[in-house]
Amino acid sequence: MAGIFFLSNPNGIEGTLTPLPELSLACRNDILHSKRKMPMATASQSLETLREAAADCRACPLWKNATQTVFGEGPPHAPLMLVGEQPGDKEDIAGKPFVGPAGLMLDRALDEAGIDRKKAYITNAVKHFKFLARGKFRLHQKPTTPEIKACRPWYERELAAIKPDLVVAMGATAAQSVFGKITPINKNRGRLIDLDDGTKALVTVHPSYLLRLPDEDAKAREYERFVDDLKIAAALLRKSTRAA
Ligand code: SF4
Repeated sequence: MAGIFFLSNPNGIEGTLTPLPELSLACRNDILHSKRKMPMATASQSLETLREAAADCRACPLWKNATQTVFGEGPPHAPLMLVGEQPGDKEDIAGKPFVGPAGLMLDRALDEAGIDRKKAYITNAVKHFKFLARGKFRLHQKPTTPEIKACRPWYERELAAIKPDLVVAMGATAAQSVFGKITPINKNRGRLIDLDDGTKALVTVHPSYLLRLPDEDAKAREYERFVDDLKIAAALLRKSTRAA
């Protein structure tokens, strides 16, 4: 069975800052085509249109080795949008976000914080699995800044379709996509931050970070901090008119 190995810390930023590559013509056409269809569409239809367009995205090289685009999923009017880094080995095969070990960790933490995962929209900053093939294993690799930027239009369109009350960025890659710039986790976690459009955002760690901590005490401590961050989200959602 294939395993997941993390070669880098999702709280760190890797890669060099190089000029942002343009979206491929095919991908831009897909997005433009999607936008033309959007004004009269419901949020649900908009997401479906986006999902179909993203399936053929070639805006960065990550599609070449991955099995499929792993688009976000969840209710089209979700008050909460959770953003991770990228699909992992299991997500790449299943075509669904957060169904592997990190997803199980996230489910447990959401439950403890009082958040129903089924009522949240869950997606990733980068929608193709980036890995290094090593025998029967596929080793997770952190996306570079150009790859994060190339994929950001999909996150922006998901955000525009859902219009959540709160976006939770889990890990450095998600934070970079949500805020449009490198955003250190530890300096920004634990408080609500206003995005330019007025949507609230919250920064926390990626659950895979917790899985990789070798020390059990540190793992327990960091897990509690993660749950505490999600409780901030839960408190805001209790005030949301859309929260069920
Ligand atoms: S990772 Fe994102 S930008 Fe790159 S090909 Fe996949 S969907 Fe397109």
